[in-house]
Amino acid sequence: MQEFLDYLINTPTALYLIVGLLSLCIGSFLNVVIYRTPKMMEQEWRSDCQFLLHPEQPMIDETKITLSKPNSTCPKCQSPIRWYQNIPVISWLILRGQCGSCQNPISIRYPFIELLTAVSSLVVVAVFGPTLQMLFGLLLTWILIALTFIDFDTQLLPDRYTLTLAALGLGINSYAIYTSPTAAIWGYIIGFLCLWIVYYLFKIITGKEGMGYGDFKLLAALGAWMGPLMLPLIVLLSSMVGAIIGIILLKIRKENQPFAFGPYIAIAGWIAFLWGEQIMKIYLGQ
Ligand SMILES: [Zn+2]
Repeated sequence: MQEFLDYLINTPTALYLIVGLLSLCIGSFLNVVIYRTPKMMEQEWRSDCQFLLHPEQPMIDETKITLSKPNSTCPKCQSPIRWYQNIPVISWLILRGQCGSCQNPISIRYPFIELLTAVSSLVVVAVFGPTLQMLFGLLLTWILIALTFIDFDTQLLPDRYTLTLAALGLGINSYAIYTSPTAAIWGYIIGFLCLWIVYYLFKIITGKEGMGYGDFKLLAALGAWMGPLMLPLIVLLSSMVGAIIGIILLKIRKENQPFAFGPYIAIAGWIAFLWGEQIMKIYLGQ
């Protein structure tokens, strides 16, 4: 094992190759996470409501969805997806974007998320090299990709991922991997509070709710990973990313979709995580 690690550290090509292939498979798993998590949450809410409203009635008998069960099937013809139809990107290309049994189109989003995961993982390797920062940076990248697409689809940022991300950030930085333990704690607190204050001011002034608690928890998590000094940059970048993506989305789809802020925080957080210090240096003219 030690020899293998030494080999990876000393052979960049092997490191890129292994991270590239691994992250394609992770991307394939993220597709499952993105697709199933909202369904799992919905199922939990339904069962909670049923229990609350009719505790005397037996539970609705549903097959419980988890990330591993049931096995993936075609949403139209229900035929099971075999392992060789589940190879990241390649299977989609071979099947020409259609189900092998019923020719139902398979969204290009699946190979897109797999490629996006691979490319962004390789960027993390390029920025950090073979270090612990790289290893945890990959983890952060993968969780942010899942959160981005779940929020984009459903306007939800599930606690199970935002709170896990925050706990990871605090835990990792207790060893000062990215910032000092004290900075991580304050990053968490200030990250949560600053959006919370914006939310209440906005609510008092306009009577509307612009953001949700998921957004506060996500920014708190990013604060825990990077410390409070990165937060102004993340907020600034997220409004820039939001403006750019907003314009692109307006061009692509004409109808007015509900607005999610989480993806922009996630993308801005990822940029700040990789290049935040350089950007701040340029910005502050040092
Ligand atoms: Zn099918």
